[in-house]
Amino acid sequence: MTGAVTDDLDKHIRVSEIFGPTIQGEGLLIGQPTVFVRTGGCDFRCSWCDSLHAVESRFREDWRPLTVEAIWMKVEALSKGSPLMVSLSGGNPAIQPLGPLITHGKARGYRFALETQGSIARPWFADLDVLVISPKPPSSDMAFNLQALLSCLDQAGARPRTVLKFVVFDEADLQFARVVSAQCPNLPVYLQPGNHTPPPPEAEDAVIDMDGIMARMHWLIGRVMAEEWYEATVLPQLHVLLWGNRRGV
Ligand code: SF4
Repeated sequence: MTGAVTDDLDKHIRVSEIFGPTIQGEGLLIGQPTVFVRTGGCDFRCSWCDSLHAVESRFREDWRPLTVEAIWMKVEALSKGSPLMVSLSGGNPAIQPLGPLITHGKARGYRFALETQGSIARPWFADLDVLVISPKPPSSDMAFNLQALLSCLDQAGARPRTVLKFVVFDEADLQFARVVSAQCPNLPVYLQPGNHTPPPPEAEDAVIDMDGIMARMHWLIGRVMAEEWYEATVLPQLHVLLWGNRRGV
């Protein structure tokens, strides 16, 4: 699915979970306090998706259709009314009509970051403070659409800080990241080693393959240095190191 999708202001937002404040575990905002609003539904089915509870239709009954006001009451209660960064994730949050929520929160001093795979462009991307586009590499078994990604950048314009983030499991993923990044030479690039651990909810307490993650982290750092890709930032998923697969932290 590509291109702009018309916002329906009357439509409720499908929410999988709202939690925090906690730290952002990945990428540009790693370590920064945030409240997460995770929407339900995704147009992708990545082979290693770690958020199946917000993707697969068998969990649809857990996704509540909420108004902007209802979401905002929860965000304000969690943050005790102190403005902070609200992280919009999914699933693919670009499916949902999030423009009014962003407008509502920004009028109250909150900031908004959104992460998407870059398959659906929305005009309200321009209202974000941070846009993280995470194109899915070959190991995801998903097809990449450069035009869709460029449409997302076009919709975002100059307003948000926009970055690329890539999950990397192997050499093919790394080379994918290089090729896609070369198409967007002005965007900062974040690389993170993939995590093979089965995702929640079935495997909420699964033992994280920490040795595997660390081995991929070392390999990835070595490869980035060998390629002299000095513009890239290599980071682990901090929340996985701290809390494993547990939800809502
Ligand atoms: S795009 Fe993200 S949420 Fe959707 S299936 Fe892939 S990893 Fe999961």
